[in-house]
Parts: sequence; C-alpha cells; structure tokens
Amino acid sequence: MTAPLPAYYTRLAPFRELFATGAPVLTYHKIGPRPWGARLKGLYVSPKLFAEQMTELHQAGFQTQSLAAVDKPGQAATPVITLTFDDGFENVLRHAVEPMRQCGFRSIEFLVAARLGQLNDWEMRQGEVAERLMDAAQIRDWLAADHEIGAHSMTHPFLTQIPLAQAREEISASKKKLEDLFDVPIRHFCYPYGDCSDAISELAREAGYETACTTEAGVNTTETNPWQLRRVTARYASRNWRNFFGRLKNVKSFARSQKF
Ligand SMILES: [Zn+2]
Repeated sequence: MTAPLPAYYTRLAPFRELFATGAPVLTYHKIGPRPWGARLKGLYVSPKLFAEQMTELHQAGFQTQSLAAVDKPGQAATPVITLTFDDGFENVLRHAVEPMRQCGFRSIEFLVAARLGQLNDWEMRQGEVAERLMDAAQIRDWLAADHEIGAHSMTHPFLTQIPLAQAREEISASKKKLEDLFDVPIRHFCYPYGDCSDAISELAREAGYETACTTEAGVNTTETNPWQLRRVTARYASRNWRNFFGRLKNVKSFARSQKF
C-alpha cells in the first residue's frame, strides 16, 4: 500500500509513481509573489518555487507534451507531462516563460476570451485581489515564445449553473473569438472552476475541441474521456504552516498536561 498523495503538487517525489501510470497534466494559475490580502492563496505559486519545479522535472528527464497527445499515453520513451495555466494572468508571462525556456518546456494558457487585458472580475466579486490578465499583444508574445493558447469560456461562469444554450455560447464563442484574434486553431478547452457535467462536456466536443480539462485529480489513460481530462493542481505548500501551528498547539497542550 502506497502512502496517500498530497492534495496538491509541490514536488515530484510523491507523484512519480502516479505520473508513470498515465499522462499527467499540471494546473497552474498565478505565478508571482502573493499580494497582501489574497484570499485564494493557493492559486499563487512563487516564481522561485515554479522555477524549482520546472528544473526538478527537467532533471528527472521529463519532456512536455501538448494536450493533443494526452489521450495517447504510454508511447513516449521519456516521461512526459503537460503544463497548463488557467485564466491568462499577466504574471505568468512575466515569471513562467523564462524558467520553461531554460528547460525546453512548452505549455498552454487557457484564456477568458471576453476579459483579455482586463481583470479577474469573477474572483474580485468574491473579494479577491485584482490581477491583470494578458492583453492581445502579450498573448502574441506568449505565442511567439512557442506556447499554446486554449479557451476558458468568454466570462468564466459556472457552466452547469447557467442555461445550456448560454453554456454552449460561452464554449463555442470563446473558440471563435480567439481563433479570429490570433489566427491559430483553438483545440483545447478548460471548464471554469472545473465545473462540468456530461451535458457540458458534450458541448465542448460538439464545438470542435479535441480535449477539455476538468479539475478532477488524477492522470489520463486511454480510458479517460478526452473532454473530461484530469489534472493535478500545483500550489504553494501552505499546509506546512498549518502543520507548524498544529505542532505548536500540540506542544502547548503537552506542556499543559505535564504542568510545565
Ligand atoms: Zn479559471
């Protein structure tokens, strides 16, 4: 029996065995220093940790593969991984491109098509700190750095919570808008919040996407529905602080019980 996996990816060792059983896909959101007041702290990965994670994968012999190859696992001679970024944050262009270049890695950024160059309004409505999204010129820089783009809907709604016709529009209009703007085929979709059902994933297939990503944890095998791909989320190892405080509390109660 192997040890249970950590909830989030911070380093390769605990995931190595799992990654060998299929096609792993890593999820990132924001690469940058966590601003004061950030609520979803785990969605930030520091530039230093990101660079360390890339170097570690590179040194372990990993090569990156496009999502287009994810449903054909087990054919590569070297270990492979797919790197994905959700939402299209400017801080990814600033902090992630160089570490990936140094490792010869490529990735895909899922863009919120009606919010290019704007702010993360879907998070700000929940009280989150504002972060700038890449504008069209920055997305062209991203493409020029040999990375891919995919669609992450028009406005980042919970797709299962809006009428099906509206969900269809969010899924298909974002593909068309990005193709028109950047003149590249948009082959991959990512469900906002990972919110997906069989009906919603059918819409992604109908719209002409080759794959669509969820936030369900795991690796992908030939059995995986390409429109319901699994991913592993990379986050700050913030649990360490909780463990630290947890240990501190235990020490105190131990001290109390011993009448120290
Ligand atoms: Zn998102």
